[in-house]
Formats: sequence, C-alpha cells, structure tokens
Amino acid sequence: MYREILKKAVDGAFLDKTEIAVLLAPPDEAAEGELFQAAQGLKRELFGNLVNLRGLVEFSNICTRDCLYCGIRKSNSKVTRYVMSMDEIVHGAALAGEFGYGSVVLQSGERSDAAFADLVEEILFRIGELPYKPGITLSCGEQSLATYLRWRKAGAKRYLLRIESSSESIYRAIHPAETTLAARKAALERLKEAGYQTGSGVMIGLPGQSTADLAGDIDFFRTMDLDMIGMGPFIPQADTPLGKSGPDLPGMAEQRLKLSLRMIAVTRLVLRDVNIAATTALQAIDPVSGRERGICAGANVIMPNVGDTAFRKDYQLYNGKPALDENAESIRTQLIGSLAAIGEVPRFHEDGDPPHYFRRMANAGI
Ligand code: SAH
Repeated sequence: MYREILKKAVDGAFLDKTEIAVLLAPPDEAAEGELFQAAQGLKRELFGNLVNLRGLVEFSNICTRDCLYCGIRKSNSKVTRYVMSMDEIVHGAALAGEFGYGSVVLQSGERSDAAFADLVEEILFRIGELPYKPGITLSCGEQSLATYLRWRKAGAKRYLLRIESSSESIYRAIHPAETTLAARKAALERLKEAGYQTGSGVMIGLPGQSTADLAGDIDFFRTMDLDMIGMGPFIPQADTPLGKSGPDLPGMAEQRLKLSLRMIAVTRLVLRDVNIAATTALQAIDPVSGRERGICAGANVIMPNVGDTAFRKDYQLYNGKPALDENAESIRTQLIGSLAAIGEVPRFHEDGDPPHYFRRMANAGI
C-alpha cells in the first residue's frame, strides 16, 4: 500500500490527507529510502542539481511576542536585545550579493510599531542602491496590509511567515492567548494580496503533534497555494516554557530530524514546484550534514548566515544553534564543499524565484 501511494504521488495524482499521513510514516527503511529518492528525483527534474542560496541577516531580536517555544520571546530576560546598525545590515546584504547568493533574507523578532516599519523600509531602500543588489525576502512577522504593501513597494519581493502549526489545538498550546492561528492565517492572506512570493512552514515534532497533524499542515500549504516552504524540527530552548522540561532524551532530536526529512520529502511530492528550504534547525541537530540531508530529501534552498558573528549568540531561537562563531566567508566555503559531496551545486547570481509563483499568477490572470 505504501508503494502504491508513493507511485501516485510521483505521478502527480491528488493525495488526500489520509494518504499524505501514510506517506509520512514509511513502514521500513527501504520504503523511507524510496520516499527520499522520489522526492530528490522530482527536485532534480524541476531544478536540476542546483541549490539556491539566500544570505540570512538576523537584524534584530527585539520581540513583542511571547511564543512558548522561542528563545527570543519577550519575557526571556537572559537575552541581550539588539538592533544591528543600518551599515551592519546593509553590509550583510552586500556580502550576499558579492558571494553570488542572489538573494538575502532579513529576519527579526516581531514588532509592529511605526519606527519599525520605517526602519525596514529604509533598509530596503539602502539595499536597493547596492551594486550587486540581491533579491530581498522579509521574515518580520504579522503586519498590516498597509505595511506589507509599503515594504513590497520598497523592494521586498518574498516573505516568510510560518504558521508554526495548522492545528488549532497545537497552535493554542504553544502560544499565549492573544497570539491566534486565525490572525496568522489572515496575515498570510494579506501577504498574498500584497503580491509577495509567499512562504510558510511549521515546526516538526512539537509536543502532542501526530502524523495526521503534519499531514494537515501539508494540506494547509496546498490549500493556501504557497510558493515557498521552510520547516524544521522543534528544538527545546532551555529558557522557554516549552523547553523547561529539560533537554531531549537521547535519540529524540534525531527522531525529530528524521521526521522533518520525511516532511520535506512528502511536501515536495505534494506541492511540487515550490521552493523548499533545508533549514538551520536541521543543521542544529546534525551539524555535519543536516541541511545536506534536507537537500537529499527534496529541498532546494539553503540560507547561510551572512550577518556579523557578534550578534549570533543573541539570536538563539533554540539551543545548539550552529556556526555561532563562523564568519560568512568560511560558511560559504564549507557549504560549497558539502554540496559537492552530494552532487549538488550552488546556483550563483540568480535569485531563484519559485516557479510556483508564476503558475499562481498565471492562474489568477495576472
Ligand atoms: N518573528 C518572525 C521570525 C523569527 S522566528 C516571525 O514571526 O515570523 C523564525 C522561526 O523560528 C519561527 O517562525 C519558528 O518556527 C522558529 N523557531 C522558534 N523557536 C524555535 C524552536 N525552539 N525550535 C525550532 N524552531 C523554532
């Protein structure tokens, strides 16, 4: 039965949520290997052996939210709060451009005050003036339509806003009451309305999360018609309520990593022409080859850090963040080598739009 459903997926037939859940739980290692092979095969059919790189700049850890899992939550008083200077931020984007990354991701904690909207707009203008101007993705949380439109106009073309979990009960269990799934969904709708290439994703291996919940997440990505997916394993952070119960028991992290790889593979087979990131959280669990395993499970994007190392220790969303003291240049060299070892090549000087976005626009008659 597993192989029948896998074949259906490979052929591009519609899978219902039950079938997606079956695919997420291969009965043995051989079946899991076939799943990964099928997903990487489809990735190669769509994108060749190329991996898109985006330079990541974590420009501020100031956050007004109190998500129960996140190391930079408002009430974590152990974190030293920072906003990079304009020059530091623009320098990160310039490095991404010079490195040939083609695209930069600007990520921060969540604020919705007017000064923050102005700051992000100014950053976008400044990056727009660079000689090797990279494409710009924002990951700055829920904002009004007006703010999303303003940033879009100032030069951002992609936006990542994770839904974290599409299950109402899980979402409620890991967020304070004022942070709702409905508001998150509405923000994703606004991003699409504002014309962004829109990305979302979930955390994998959350307390109480079942395979059926994860199948529901993939169904949510499909229903929302998303262009980009970024997901990774949940990793307990010691200074947060969800991390307080202590670090993982031996083997738990690796289990979450494996489940994340299956999520990547099944998401590739179901959504097909979207960009899927092999995220840093994979690397946090397996520093040697976490992200490379993500590529071998069908992902086609990696987001190496290009920000100044001085800030990295204060942007620990979870424990075990990798490459805390490695500079952007050595990260780049290592990545080229580790990709070569799995037969993949960075796609330099292209900003790597997700083909799904153009299909979505064509369908809408835009
Ligand atoms: N504040 C921004 C983005 C910064 S956080 C926003 O609202 O979109 C980026 C992502 O890190 C979150 O969306 C969450 O999915 C992930 N994250 C936070 N804490 C985590 C943890 N303990 N384990 C794994 N991922 C985590």
